[in-house]
Amino acid sequence: MKKITIAIDGYSSCGKSTIAKALAAKLGYSYVDSGAMYRSITLFCIRRGIIKDGRFDHSDVIRELDNINLTFVYNPAAKASDTYLNGENVEREIRTLDVSSHVSHISLIREVRQKLVAIQREMGKNKGVVMDGRDIGTNVFPDAELKIFVTADTDVRTQRRVDELRAKGHKVSVEEVKKNLLHRDYEDSHRKENPLVQAPDAIVLDNTDLTREEQLDFVFSRVMELKLEQD
Ligand code: C5P
Repeated sequence: MKKITIAIDGYSSCGKSTIAKALAAKLGYSYVDSGAMYRSITLFCIRRGIIKDGRFDHSDVIRELDNINLTFVYNPAAKASDTYLNGENVEREIRTLDVSSHVSHISLIREVRQKLVAIQREMGKNKGVVMDGRDIGTNVFPDAELKIFVTADTDVRTQRRVDELRAKGHKVSVEEVKKNLLHRDYEDSHRKENPLVQAPDAIVLDNTDLTREEQLDFVFSRVMELKLEQD
C-alpha cells in the first residue's frame, strides 16, 4: 500500500505522542516527536547559561544554532527514537518542567523554527511517517494526507502530565503543571511564526473520555478510509 504522511497537532499534554507512536508502530511507519527538537535546543540554552533567570537574548540563541547537532537513534524498548543533543541522549532531561517552562519562548524564534522544520521535512521526505507537534499539518507538511488535531479537557491533560512526570521521578505539583500547560498553549497559539492552529482539513480528536485503544481505533480507521479512497 502507498505510504502516506500523517500530521498530529494539538495542545500541550493531550497525548499526541502516545497516539502517534502507537499508530506508527501499527502501520510500520516511523514516528517523529518534533517537540523533542524544540526541547533539546531549550536544554542546550539552559546548560550554556544563555537562558538565565528565565531571560535570554534571541541573538545569543541564533548564534549558537550551528553548534547544536540533533540526531535520533531508534530505541526498541521505547518503540521510538531517542533524541541526542551533540551526541548525548537527552530523552529524560528534555522532559523536565524547567525545559517545559522555557520551550515556548525558544520555539517562537524564526531561525530556530527554520532549522528544525528543515530537519523535520528531511525526516519525512519519503513519507511513511507520523509526526506530532504544533505546526506539522499547517506548515511542515501542509500536503499531509491525514491531519489530526488533538484536544482534551485542561484538567484531564494536567493530571495525565502530572502522572507522567511523577512516574519518571520528577517532583511536581498539579498547580505548577497546569500553569505551565496553559501558558504554553497561549504562547504556542499566539506566536507570529507558525502558531498552533487547526488546519482547515484536520480531523478533530477530543480524547477527554477516550481510552488509548479507542484513540488508536479512531486514527487507524481514518488511515484505512484514506487507503480505500486511494486504491
Ligand atoms: O510537544 P511538546 O509539548 O514536547 O512540545 C514542546 C514545545 O515545543 C511546545 O510547547 C511548542 O512551544 C514547541 N513546539 C513547536 N512546534 C512543534 C512542536 C513543538 O513550536 N512542531
